[in-house]
Amino acid sequence: MSFDIEQVLQILEQEVRNYQVPVVDLIAVQTHDPFKVLVATILSARTRDEVTAVAAARLFTKAPTSQALAALDENTLQRLIFPVGFYKSKAKYLAALPAKLDQEFGGQVPEEIEQLITLPGVGRKTANLVRAQAFGKPAICVDTHVHRIMNIWGFVQTATPLQTEMALRNKLPPQYWIRVNSLLVAFGQGTCRPLGPHCDSCVLKMKGLCPQIGVTPRKNKLSGEKRTDAKQAGIKRMVSWNVNGLRAVAKNGFLAFVADQAPDILALQEIKAMPEQLPEEVREIAGFTSYFYPAQKKGYSGVAIYSREPAVKVVHGIGDSRFDEEGRVLTLEFADFYFVNCYFPNSRHDLSRLTLKQEFNLAVHRFLEDLARNKSVVVCGDFNVAHTEKDLANPAANVKNAGFTPEERQWMDAYTQTGWIDTFRHYNQEPGNYSWWSYRSNARERNIGWRIDYFFVDPASKGRIRSSDILAAVQGSDHCPILLDFK
Ligand code: SF4
Repeated sequence: MSFDIEQVLQILEQEVRNYQVPVVDLIAVQTHDPFKVLVATILSARTRDEVTAVAAARLFTKAPTSQALAALDENTLQRLIFPVGFYKSKAKYLAALPAKLDQEFGGQVPEEIEQLITLPGVGRKTANLVRAQAFGKPAICVDTHVHRIMNIWGFVQTATPLQTEMALRNKLPPQYWIRVNSLLVAFGQGTCRPLGPHCDSCVLKMKGLCPQIGVTPRKNKLSGEKRTDAKQAGIKRMVSWNVNGLRAVAKNGFLAFVADQAPDILALQEIKAMPEQLPEEVREIAGFTSYFYPAQKKGYSGVAIYSREPAVKVVHGIGDSRFDEEGRVLTLEFADFYFVNCYFPNSRHDLSRLTLKQEFNLAVHRFLEDLARNKSVVVCGDFNVAHTEKDLANPAANVKNAGFTPEERQWMDAYTQTGWIDTFRHYNQEPGNYSWWSYRSNARERNIGWRIDYFFVDPASKGRIRSSDILAAVQGSDHCPILLDFK
């Protein structure tokens, strides 16, 4: 099979338009400053982009130039760049950088690879990236993604990134030298992942363009392709996700996620956007009818539902303006069930909204009970409360904290005592299953999380539950999606 690299890279240009832009590219575009690109590139090694972006921003407020960087000692640098990977070594490199630039390059960041690799903490990969991004000069930055994916495609057959760089210098059309790293980093983080590439949703696989050399695709028991039997049996896949900003997650693989999971109903919380602020392909996802209930205040709260089957009736809110103006509850009525999407208020760090939240809880419970008198009810969303001690990693430390106060948990006790079924616990009693992690302290990597997102059904609908799960591997928000299969 001959491999058409130009065709493939052109397809990927389209494909990654909605992916997150790698942080170094972003800094290059935003600043056009070789010093900042160099520093961000040093910080980015072995560090997730989100962490690099925050650390770089913190560092640049104190050290926007090489001269300002020279005034900071190593300990201060460590504090500023923590928790990037290898922060102690990187602080040492950064502390030595201004003197090196002054002594050998007149205080300027050099352009040539051979010069760049003499700087502290700068290897060949970093040098190529700086040359390409900061100066727009021909350079092929080969990192793990470029090396791996080029070999998967069979475009090169190499054992090391350096061999790949040399092979690409001979084979890759020059117009792709600068772009190829950004393209394949985005694609490698989003679809062609190192562990279990998402071949089932990959555009190159669909077009029959990837030879998949040496690849073990992920096993996706939940993928749309494999759900045909379930669909034929009348089982509906429902997914709920607090996206913490729909515009942000839309740039980070949201549509690929929807294509991958192929839900029948997708409920989103905390969309933080008016429908008109969304890209058209997100406002109206092909194959779905979309329903939005944004907060009146821009950029705050709000819920949305996408449904393959149009609803018979739509109910906005629960008839209480205090909650309805914050876009917290959206209900779709179907022939034989109601689907209710809820975003419960956060009682806040100082518990200043605890009383309001308790009133919301009671009002929602009444609303659900009223619906359940007519037909089945599925209710999902971010309840902003961990019910029991096994629903969060550190219960003892959080007994007085928002989301785990006795008052919030007592309401959840009362709610479940009236028979409403926590569908995840219907199948799984194990601790360590969470749906939200703080962005701080690498909490997600360490699985220091909380289970605060739920799918409940009314007591009479227990027999309609088919499965319930937490999609903890899905990135893009501080929450992960949860799902319910319901017949
Ligand atoms: S088909 Fe699989 S291996 Fe090939 S590029 Fe796509 S995700 Fe990677």
